[in-house]
Formats: sequence, C-alpha cells, structure tokens
Amino acid sequence: MSDKHDGPDFETLAIRAGQVRTAEGEHSEPIFPTSSFVFENAAAAAARFSGEEPGNIYSRFTNPTVRIFEQRLAALEGGECCVATSSGMAAILSVCAALLKTGDHVICSRSVFGTTTVLFSTYLAKFGIETTFVPLADLDNWEQAIRPETQLLFLETPSNPLTELVDIRALADLAHANGCLLCVDNCFCTPALQQPLALGADLVIHSATKYLDGQGRCVGGAVIGDEERVGKDIFGFLRTAGPTMSPFNAWVFLKGLETLSLRMQAHSKNALEIARWLEQQQHIERVFHPGLESHPQHDLAGSQQKDYGGIVSFEVTGGQNNAWSLIDATRVFSITANLGDTKSTITHPATTTHGRLTPEQRADTGITDGLIRLAVGLESVNDLEADLERGLATIGH
Ligand SMILES: *Cc1c(COP(=O)(O)O)cnc(C)c1O
Repeated sequence: MSDKHDGPDFETLAIRAGQVRTAEGEHSEPIFPTSSFVFENAAAAAARFSGEEPGNIYSRFTNPTVRIFEQRLAALEGGECCVATSSGMAAILSVCAALLKTGDHVICSRSVFGTTTVLFSTYLAKFGIETTFVPLADLDNWEQAIRPETQLLFLETPSNPLTELVDIRALADLAHANGCLLCVDNCFCTPALQQPLALGADLVIHSATKYLDGQGRCVGGAVIGDEERVGKDIFGFLRTAGPTMSPFNAWVFLKGLETLSLRMQAHSKNALEIARWLEQQQHIERVFHPGLESHPQHDLAGSQQKDYGGIVSFEVTGGQNNAWSLIDATRVFSITANLGDTKSTITHPATTTHGRLTPEQRADTGITDGLIRLAVGLESVNDLEADLERGLATIGH
C-alpha cells in the first residue's frame, strides 16, 4: 500500500509527472515543433535573455515537450533535475565536457557499452583526460585505481553481455571518501528496476533509445542528478554545444515512460523464464542472468534491483560455428545488436559488439566464441523457446 504522505507512486509519476496542459485542454502531451519562441515586446525579450524572467527562448535551450520528458524522468529516478540529450552518447559526453578538465582522471568499468570505451580512451584522451578501465565487480580494483586527480567513476550494472553487477552503494561510498563523483549508466534496469541516486550515485545517464522508448523508434538520452551539476553545469554545456533532444523524440519517449513499469516487469518475467529453460537444455555450457540462483551475485541483484531485467546470455558448446548456426536457425528473434525493444533480439558479441577487442581482451572479459546474447522482448515465451529450440537442434548434427 502506498503512503499518502510520500507523494505519488512510480506508476503514477510515469504517467502524470511534468505535464502542464495548455489552454486547449489536451489530454495527451502536445508536441511543440518550434525552433524559437516569441516575446510580447522588446522589454520582455530583454528580460528573458538576461534571465530576469524565466521562459522559453530557443529550442536548443528549452522546449515544452522536452521539458515534460525531463521532469517526468527526473521524478522517476528521484533526482532534482534532468536534461535530455540527442543520444545516450551525447549524455555521457555532456557529463564529461561539463564536469571534467584537462589533467583529470576517470575510472571506468571495463564492461561498459563499447562506444563509451572509445569515447573515454580516444576522444577524452585528446583533451588530456585519462581513463583507467577496471573489472566491474571487484571494489579493490576501483580503490587501487584512484589517484589524487580522479574525479569520476563510471559504470553500468548489470553489465553487457555477462550481467555482472557491482554494489552501487559501496562504490558511491568509495567515490565520496575520495572526493569523486559516481555516474551510473542505468540503461539496462531503468528507474523501474533500479534507482542509483537513492543508492548514493551522484549522476545517472540513460540511452533513452533502449527501454525508455521500448519500441525501437528513436535515438535519445538524458542525464539526471542535482540542480547544481545537472541544472547549471550540464545544462550550460548542452545549450552551448547543442546536442539537445528534439521535441518529437521527447514525445515518443514520454509515451514510452507511461508503460515503462509494466514493460520492465514483463521483460524480466520472460527473461527469467527463458534463462531457467536454457539451463535445462543440452549443448549449453552456462547461462548468465541475475535472476538465476546460479548467478554469483543473485543476492546483490535482489537487494539493489526490483527485478532482474531482460538480458540473458548463454554459452553454447563448440564455439562460433555452433553459436552462428543457432542464431541463423531462429525465425522470431531479430539478429541485431539493439536491445530494450518489444521485439526480442539475438547477438553474437564476439563478432559484433565486442569484435574490436583482441582475442586476449575478449578472453579476459569472458566474451567467448560460443557466447550468445538475448535481449528478451515481449513476444510469447513459448514461441521464443520454440525458436531457440530450433537453433539448438542444429548443434550436434
Ligand atoms: C546504447 C547504449 C548507449 C549509447 O546510447 P545511444 O542512444 O546509442 O547513443 C550507452 N550505454 C548503454 C548501456 C547502451 O546500451
């Protein structure tokens, strides 16, 4: 039962937070496709530009549809402030460009989205910001990597594709004891399953492209945190540099947020069922999903997440040949690296998302040639299992 004094529950905020009706009395949030906004007179324009009077000026700065999305996502993550960005990568870039400077040091989990690794190791390095990559789960590695210049700790939990976790609260304590900020990429769980700010993280970033949209339509991102860093510093970078979200995309993501809680429960339920089923099948070495009792961090997942999420990975016997023949025999799963969609997807990480790593780096991170990643969608589990069965039947023949 909800406590009336705590404010609305998550499901209510996901549908109601941030909406301001116009004089037209629309029920669904309107899209404002306008690049600029007009003023009553010259004095009003001057007051708006000087910041004396709040309000819209130009859609690189603010837009009413984008603002509804920002306020709604801030409410869902439990943050003071949110700024929307043109992509998930633009969200990470905005955090770094706004908060870091030459000479600063970053510690990043080794198991983050591949492009995030490239952003840190290639582009931030050009501006004299150095990054150390550490194994995600082991706090000692994070602690040993800290230097006097370290400003930011960055991670995803659970990781992709092996669904490893880290204790967010413990890492936030470590960050704060050393004067660093902790930023969590909450793409895999979304606030419906995990709220990093409540566990002590300072910043959350999203690729809205994934579960926030939920139907694979638009690219977008967001940063959530406190008024000072997000509302002033990161917003300041965004309105200057320009990787802002379009009003149309913001509207699609708003509609996505309205069903987020239901969808994440359904993704999690389907994924756990398929993970359990896979554990019973032949020609499978191991199944990775935080909801399985066999997962080494099952208890941590239970304490820091509301549910276990939609990602399941498994290793088939016989390496790449068998992995590819399984993938090629499926008819329902889409062969694509995207995730967070109602449509289930199937990927061979070693030759796609992690193909740029050397064989040694892949071995280090556990991305074997037999590994297959599923992002379980919302089709019938029976049909998905029949599809995988068709794939498994090609192994050993
Ligand atoms: C996709 C993804 C990103 C990048 O987001 P884009 O919207 O594609 O720019 C960042 N982090 C994670 C975990 C992702 O899956």
